[in-house]
Amino acid sequence: MLFILLFNLIQDQWKSNFHDAEYADILKLPPQPVTSPTQPKSILKGTEQKAKQKVVRSSSLNRGVIKRTPVLSPVRANNDSPLPGIIRSRRHSIGSTASLERSLSKISLKEPAEVASSLMPEYSKGSRISSCTSVRRANSKLGVCGLENLGNTCFMNSILQCLSKDRTLREYFCDRKYKKDCKGACRLTNAFGEFMDNIWSKSEPSYISPRSVKLEVQKLAPKFVGNHQHDSQEFLRYLIEGVHDELNVVKTKPTYSYDDLDDMRDDEKARVVWERYLSRESSLIQDLFVGQLRSTLTCSQCGHASVTFDPFWDLSLPIPIKRGDVADIAECFQTFTQEEILDGAEKPTCEKCKKRRKCTKKFLIERCPKVLVIHLKRFAGQRYRTKLSTHVIFPTELDIKQYTVAKESRRYQLFGVSNHIGGTAGGHYTAYCKHPDSGKWNLYNDTRVSPATPSSVNTAGAYVLFYELM
Ligand SMILES: [Zn+2]
Repeated sequence: MLFILLFNLIQDQWKSNFHDAEYADILKLPPQPVTSPTQPKSILKGTEQKAKQKVVRSSSLNRGVIKRTPVLSPVRANNDSPLPGIIRSRRHSIGSTASLERSLSKISLKEPAEVASSLMPEYSKGSRISSCTSVRRANSKLGVCGLENLGNTCFMNSILQCLSKDRTLREYFCDRKYKKDCKGACRLTNAFGEFMDNIWSKSEPSYISPRSVKLEVQKLAPKFVGNHQHDSQEFLRYLIEGVHDELNVVKTKPTYSYDDLDDMRDDEKARVVWERYLSRESSLIQDLFVGQLRSTLTCSQCGHASVTFDPFWDLSLPIPIKRGDVADIAECFQTFTQEEILDGAEKPTCEKCKKRRKCTKKFLIERCPKVLVIHLKRFAGQRYRTKLSTHVIFPTELDIKQYTVAKESRRYQLFGVSNHIGGTAGGHYTAYCKHPDSGKWNLYNDTRVSPATPSSVNTAGAYVLFYELM
């Protein structure tokens, strides 16, 4: 037994000395492509989604009609929904794939990981203390704790580090408030709660294993089974939407007809659509992360404007391609909110003209979330991924006033950055996070933690940014 413990310790130490790509190389694993970049799609589900007409930027699907409520994908791209119920409705996920996913999901329950977990060193097991809250108040070193790499799982580690440093999530999970909201088995939520409890009970040089979180996420999304490298933003979406689904206080979701929105003013419509969304989706997770986006489609012929509202979990900002390898985040926001012309094969049908017309499409933020997650769209292409290595300059204090409908000041403070280093064939993820008590920044690289300065967190590797409303 002692030998096994020692062996594990040495192996962990050895692992942590290598980047994932190098590690894979040593183990003679084939290079793992980073999974295709997936942008969040509308999180509206069921009847709401059916009630809407999707405007897709694809010539083959361009029979889009400007209806009352077209879903203008808030992030300008479609994506597999992280929600398990929707996995099966994916365009390419027909019956056989779905059953394969289900069987993979079953296999994952008996992964060697569970066997391995019984051999893990004691400190990395889910040992729970009564309350990490009272302890951590007196000790701002707690939470400064590394995470074991379970084999290319740095994408997960970088996200977990950022989420763990959110004050509201810390209070909710470390104080066990989530237990009241858990009505079912809540397996993912419990795994995340245990992870939060663990990370806020430890300080470096110890590190913990996030294995149970991974096991639960891969039950929702079998693509995470195994030791492949994945997209950290995609993992984030599966994780937070998965936890939200378990904590959602709404068990029977009301359905609505959207015909009554026709005669409403835009601000009134925004409020009604938001209230209806909340009547279907309500949890602390949703309350923290979800904002509302306004999409306006304007006919160039008759000037008719079709305004729709969609919730968003994060904003995927395009990186402008220009000379020089530096861009400001303001330019990313401008690109995101600037009017886009839909012409040629992309022409939607105007509901007033009843004809396909050249239109302009524009996004603005209607409602600001408490935690603003910004995803910089560095990756393009599905089969052959390419990466933009542009250095995006972003401030530690960000005001998004200009990109909102209300044009009122909305100031955010940066508290976490998930970085992607390297190319598409075998990159590595790290995270910069600000400690919520000490305000000090650290660089989290799997098991290793090193001090950082606020000015050092803005690197060309920045991929997902976490801002909290001030
Ligand atoms: Zn028109």
